Formats: sequence, C-alpha cells, structure tokens
Amino acid sequence: MLDNKKLTPLSAIGEFGLIKRIQEKVTIQQISTHKAIGDDAAVLEFIGKQILLTTDMLTENVHFNLMYTPLKHLGYKSVIVNLSDICAMNGTPSQITVSLAVSNRFSVEAIDELYEGILLACENYGVDLVGGDTTSSQSGLIISITAIGHANADDVVYRNSAQKGDLVCVTGDLGAAYMGLQLLEREKEIYKANPGIQPDLQGNDYILKRQLKPEARLDIVELMHSLKLKPTAMIDISDGLSSEIMHIGLDSGLGAKIYEAKIPIAEETLKMAVELNIDPTISAMSGGEDYELLFTIRPEDYEKIKNLPDFTVIGTMTDVSDGFKLLTRDGSTVQITSQGYNAFLEQS
Ligand code: ADP
Ligand code: MG
Repeated sequence: MLDNKKLTPLSAIGEFGLIKRIQEKVTIQQISTHKAIGDDAAVLEFIGKQILLTTDMLTENVHFNLMYTPLKHLGYKSVIVNLSDICAMNGTPSQITVSLAVSNRFSVEAIDELYEGILLACENYGVDLVGGDTTSSQSGLIISITAIGHANADDVVYRNSAQKGDLVCVTGDLGAAYMGLQLLEREKEIYKANPGIQPDLQGNDYILKRQLKPEARLDIVELMHSLKLKPTAMIDISDGLSSEIMHIGLDSGLGAKIYEAKIPIAEETLKMAVELNIDPTISAMSGGEDYELLFTIRPEDYEKIKNLPDFTVIGTMTDVSDGFKLLTRDGSTVQITSQGYNAFLEQS
C-alpha cells in the first residue's frame, strides 16, 4: 500500500495544510448542512426534528492495531461505529466531525488513506463531514468521531421502553467480527514469531470483513420505517448480545429469556469457531463489534417481520424477577452475565 511510495512528513504541510487537504476532498450531501469545514463552527439546520448526537473515541493499541488494520478500513469503521449508534435510536445520521491526535510517525499519505475510508463511509451513508480538530500526539493515533442525526420525536426509540412479553429480535448474524479478530490475532502472533511467513487469511473474507469493515444497519431503520414498525426498545450490538440485552432489560425494569438455538450465526463463523476451538455462542454473546441491531417488538407486530430474512426472533422479555436466562440447545438454563467488552476491565 504505502510502502513503495515516497512519503511526505506531516510537518511538510502543517496543520492548516492538512485541514485544507481534507476540506478539498469533502462533498456535501445533506440539505441540513448549511456550513461545513472552514469556519469556527459548522452550521446545521433541521426543521421539526429531534437531533441525535453521539461520540466515540478510538485509541491505537486499545481499540485498533495498525499491524493488521489498514488505515482505510480504520477510517471507515471509526465512522460506522458512530452511525450505528444513531441507527440504534431509530434515527438517520446526517453529519460527522472527526478529531485526530496524530504523531509524526504518520505521513501525509497515511492520513490520506484514513480519510479515504472516512469519506467512503460518508458517501455510502449520505453523511457530511462538517468539521473536526487536528492535534499532535506523543505516540499513537487517537480518532474521535461525533455523529449527528435526526428523527421525528415520535420515532425515536430508547433502551428503557421494552414491555413484558415483547419479542426480542436481532438483525443479521452475530459473532463473526469477534471470530475475525481472533483469526487476525492468531496470524499476528505467527508473524511476530516468524516474519517470513505470510498470513493465512484465505477463505475467511466474511469474518474479516465483519471485523475490519463493518456496516451500520441504516437499511434496517429505513425498512422498519416503511413497514411502519416501531420497536419498543433498541440498542446496537457493540459489546456482545449478553451485555446489550441486559441494558435493555435493566433499563426497562425487566428480565429476558434468549434461546441459544435461535441466535443467528453465519456458516463462516461456525467454521472458524471449530478451527479456533471457540464456542460460537460465546462469540455471539460476548464478542461484540457486530454492529447489528437488537430490539424488542410487541407480539402483534410479529406478522410484519416473520418473513424477513434479516430479522430473527431470539427470545422474549420477561418479569424482572426471572432475570436474564439463556436456554441452551441441550435444554438447560444458564444465567446471562454481562461479559462484553468493558473499556476498563480489558486494559492492563
Ligand atoms: P479552530 O482554531 O477554530 O479550532 P481549526 O483550525 O482547528 O479551527 O479548524 C478549522 C476548520 O477545519 C474548522 O471548520 C474545523 O472544524 C475543521 N477541521 C479541523 N480539523 C479537522 C479534521 N481533522 N477533519 C475535518 N475537519 C477539521
Ligand atoms: Mg481546532
């Protein structure tokens, strides 16, 4: 990728040069964007909408590893994780800001690659890059993205409004991103021990894509809108099914019952689970980074979704006294505990 080209140090163009370079690549797509990059603040105008705002910070070697993450993918994913949060409110994302802390170890071309990914995500989701901040860092790369979205007040879906008896639904399939990460980690260790060996990633495109280039389920938000289906509660799966169902349950004052056999898991995920000797249910429950939507619907809305391949009913919301239960394939019941990614537990 960058290896064979002559690289330009960031100091050659400076902060303002870099901002200008970014500004020149931006095309505006939203009518709500009145003024984007170039003044002291962006100016947005939304008429009759509630504004959704979310932000996420990603730190090198904590949230991403540049040994196996191409910068373009990193840029794309950094945007997606934020757009996914807007989707989880049943909203439409419209603008982002991007703030970078970057060390002089990065070249102009490296930042160009990062922005290629950022702007590709913007293009794919119809979102405008309207500002940010650029600063230096002593060592690694830090990316902080804020996404802005909107929804009609009546359409916004919160985590705390599920009702007892509601069906628990999930989109797509789970556990693949975690399995992709395990594969990349395995190949990284092999490479570190013997740099002559080429990584063996063949035939695992799906799980790698789920880890390196995830998507936000804006298509589902739009589909539900056209079906006139409003979930009673919703969250995106960034930390794993266990932790997300517990967020909905605890915030709504309920318990939940999930059927292991119903959890959608892709063929490719199952195959890698066997190869790496990891229980695929654990990767779905605790792996995270799938960026699918987990939501609850009233039982009478089941008719609207029952034939849609992207939706799977995996359980029901129960009384708070029932707690959080996983009914396993062999007929036993296990307590669900929140073992998803925890920002402080995982750091040493
Ligand atoms: P200020 O001194 O007011 O903070 P800056 O010089 O940091 O202004 O930024 C100038 C303009 O460029 C602003 O519109 C800001 O939002 C935008 N900007 C700065 N850094 C970035 C970046 N990394 N990506 C996108 N826009 C940026
Ligand atoms: Mg600034």
